[in-house]
Amino acid sequence: MTPTGPTAEQWAAAVAAVRSAGTGDEVQLICHVNPDGDALGSMLGFGLGLRRLGYTRLRATFPGDFAVPGPYADLPGSGLLVPAGDAFVSPRLVLVFDVASESRLGDLAGLLAGAPAGVVLDHHASNTGFGGVQLVDPAAAATSVVAEELLRRLGVELDAEIAECLYVALATDTGSFKFDMTTVAVHELAARLIATGIRPGEISRRIFDSKPFGAMRLTGEVLGRAILDPSAAGGRGMVWTYATLADLDRHGQPPYILDTLIDPVRSVAEADVSVVVKEAAAGEWSVSLRSKGAVDVSGVAISQGGGGHRLAAGFTGYGEAAQVVDTVRGLLDRYLI
Ligand code: 5GP
Ligand code: MN
Repeated sequence: MTPTGPTAEQWAAAVAAVRSAGTGDEVQLICHVNPDGDALGSMLGFGLGLRRLGYTRLRATFPGDFAVPGPYADLPGSGLLVPAGDAFVSPRLVLVFDVASESRLGDLAGLLAGAPAGVVLDHHASNTGFGGVQLVDPAAAATSVVAEELLRRLGVELDAEIAECLYVALATDTGSFKFDMTTVAVHELAARLIATGIRPGEISRRIFDSKPFGAMRLTGEVLGRAILDPSAAGGRGMVWTYATLADLDRHGQPPYILDTLIDPVRSVAEADVSVVVKEAAAGEWSVSLRSKGAVDVSGVAISQGGGGHRLAAGFTGYGEAAQVVDTVRGLLDRYLI
């Protein structure tokens, strides 16, 4: 099935929903728990766009701990960020970014459900269709692709601040323009963003190539214990590792440092599937799944209450790390493509 993007009616409804709020009305922007570059970049870029349109009462937030990963802490528009507890109580308009299911909104789900107008901007094939107006394009490389299109339809002209946010979102979700969904349209969007004067090299160094020394030591240790399981996934192979809260503690690192750990793991040539199991709390693990094309890992994730894309997905697992991995291993054959 070819994924289809938003219809003309949905775009029109989204524009109408935004315009239903006056520039003095409260507008709440929300992205997913444990936000990544696309969640924060698309949300803050869109927030800055609304500011350019004259909206004055804007707040941006996400559920859970108010911890913005270091690389994104200085994004333009980060002044819009507030802890979840300081979100508007009854906003006129709620805009949601990069959220595939209501559960990823945590305690903030009620804000969307209760608002007179709401728009969900997303690109997950597993999007459950919650919320008000749906702008979900599974073919989009990042939520920022959808955000830019809506900004254009609202008459916002890109400037360097908006562009930096949207570029960070695009670069992170495409693995620096390496993944399959890096289409002509993606590069055309990148070109429009770069044309505003932003510096891709400087941004990439800040986002991807700037980590504390302790993070390198932690990564070395966690990669050093990786296990290759060549017979998994119908013989296509699986590689996996885990990281505990004690590992983070020992190296003095915050949890977001583990967000990109899947990247070196999935570079292992002998395995189609890669798995990183990260301890989130005692007996609770945040599981990252990647495939190079043999397995629909979103099927595995959805079966465990999570979600994502065909080749990049995740869920929350419980028990021992090895048990969680065993469960994944057992499911891979069922989701061979
Ligand atoms: P990551 O492994 O980078 O955390 O996530 C990969 C993809 O899976 C992202 O698109 C992310 O939204 C999705 N994902 C990760 N964990 C979860 C989860 O617990 N629930 C859902 N619905 N999606 C997840
Ligand atoms: Mn995304």
